[in-house]
Amino acid sequence: METYSEILSSMGIDEINSGVYYGDWAKPTGKMITVNSPIDGEYIAKVSMATKDDYENIVSRAIEEFKKWRMVPAPKRGLIIKEIGDELRKEKKNLGKIVTIEVGKTASEGEGEIQEMIDVSDLALGLSRQLYGLTITSERPYHRMYEQWIPLGPVAVITSFNFPASVWSWNAFIAAVDGDVVIWKPSSKAVLTAVAVMKVIEKVLKRNNAPNIFFLMAGSGSEGGEWITNDKRIPLVSFTGSVPVGKRISENVAKRLGKTILELGGNNGAIVSDKCDIDMALKGVVFGALATGGQRCTTTRRVIVNEKIYSDFLERLKNAYSTIKVGDPREKGVLVGPLIDEDAVKNYENAIDLAIKQGGKLVFGGKRIKIDKHENGHYVMPTIIEANPGMDIVNEETFAPILYVMKYKTIDEAINIHNSVPQGLSSAIFTNDLREEEAFLSVYGSDCGLANVNTSTAGAEIGGAFGGEKDTGGGRESGSDAWKYYMRRQTVTKNWGNTLPLAQDVVFDF
Ligand code: NAD
Repeated sequence: METYSEILSSMGIDEINSGVYYGDWAKPTGKMITVNSPIDGEYIAKVSMATKDDYENIVSRAIEEFKKWRMVPAPKRGLIIKEIGDELRKEKKNLGKIVTIEVGKTASEGEGEIQEMIDVSDLALGLSRQLYGLTITSERPYHRMYEQWIPLGPVAVITSFNFPASVWSWNAFIAAVDGDVVIWKPSSKAVLTAVAVMKVIEKVLKRNNAPNIFFLMAGSGSEGGEWITNDKRIPLVSFTGSVPVGKRISENVAKRLGKTILELGGNNGAIVSDKCDIDMALKGVVFGALATGGQRCTTTRRVIVNEKIYSDFLERLKNAYSTIKVGDPREKGVLVGPLIDEDAVKNYENAIDLAIKQGGKLVFGGKRIKIDKHENGHYVMPTIIEANPGMDIVNEETFAPILYVMKYKTIDEAINIHNSVPQGLSSAIFTNDLREEEAFLSVYGSDCGLANVNTSTAGAEIGGAFGGEKDTGGGRESGSDAWKYYMRRQTVTKNWGNTLPLAQDVVFDF
């Protein structure tokens, strides 16, 4: 197995790195973030955090670069993003390894993270020729009305640790073809991946002599994050992270009447009907619950099973869980790697204690585990708890592989249970019954931003608009018309006649 330093050097990453990029890398003078791997707790490298001076430098340069970038025709902007995608294709394996050692994703999921960036770059290229506006009929003769979309300026993207590269690209590549420049504040738990990504991007921007459209500022949320959210020069903050932090950001940005895109926590449920393909449902639920060790915003946290197949399905779930290999995510066959850190392990343990106190029944897992030679890694057993929807803990998102299993009688009851939590990101139903499927998709059906039929709550494609309702924040990113969030809409009215008729036939003669 390659050492951590061999993996870093394949990406040109040093032991001490600057976490501040504004067209050049700032000298690493700020406080340092020490990066240890969740795989074994071992030291990987250090990354400097932005100082207030660095931040000011970033924002003033971003404003200047924006003035140049907005003048580049959108399809040409798209070509730059496409070239970034091509470069990411070349570095997919190496970047994937950095994701794996920094946040503990399996090799396949680490590379998947970069593949998602590549997919977004393809989408962004296509979009760059499709930034369309509506034409609206005017009530006045010889008048024309239409909408046009104009870039916003420097926008900020604050990201969570669990999708350390792809989530940024969902925002950044789309915002860039829209004509914005982007300031990225990554999670301090995933800062090395951000440095590695910026190194790839730097090459493309420099060889094209392009304006510097992407800026990086490592830093804590309470410092760097707050500078951004309170800064009126940044018209839009796109935030991906937990509900409590999202609320704080929303308040800060709203106070200055800025815009936000909020992609907050999920508490995703899957309904398993007695009329489903049970093997498919099992696969969908196990993948949804355990991919990325239960640390996806779209992780299946609740499975709501028809009483007629409840015992059978629970038995199958337990059997499937007993075959899942937990361990070093670089090893072949391992499907569940470590949790991100010790706090995450404590949250897992607390949630299980609470679930049992509140009446849940532990039927699988429930313990942290030690992996040979990786004593300081943060490993836990995938866990199944029989629960009921009234339990408080079931309403919370615990960022760990804990699955609550619940029983239902009728499809309406299943939908009610499903919708009874505060969050509204992703949802699924496994059924081959048209009526059940349509009920789930009807006006009283799933209250989430994402509704899946016969497929998992996790693993969304980038072509659709991604995001959720209720406490998940209401934002939309990536596909469909999510590009509009990074622009401002202008309604244009043109009079090409010889007189000045007024709207609503108002008379104003003088
Ligand atoms: P987190 O909320 O702890 O941190 C997210 C980011 O916010 C980090 O960059 C952090 O430094 C920053 N931050 C913290 N305090 C801040 C402040 N006061 N001002 C500005 N920024 C601040 O989340 P996390 O633990 O990194 O990620 C896990 C959470 O993210 C989960 O709740 C998960 O569901 C959610 N998530 C949501 C989506 C989605 O699309 N809905 C996707 C991925 C993750």
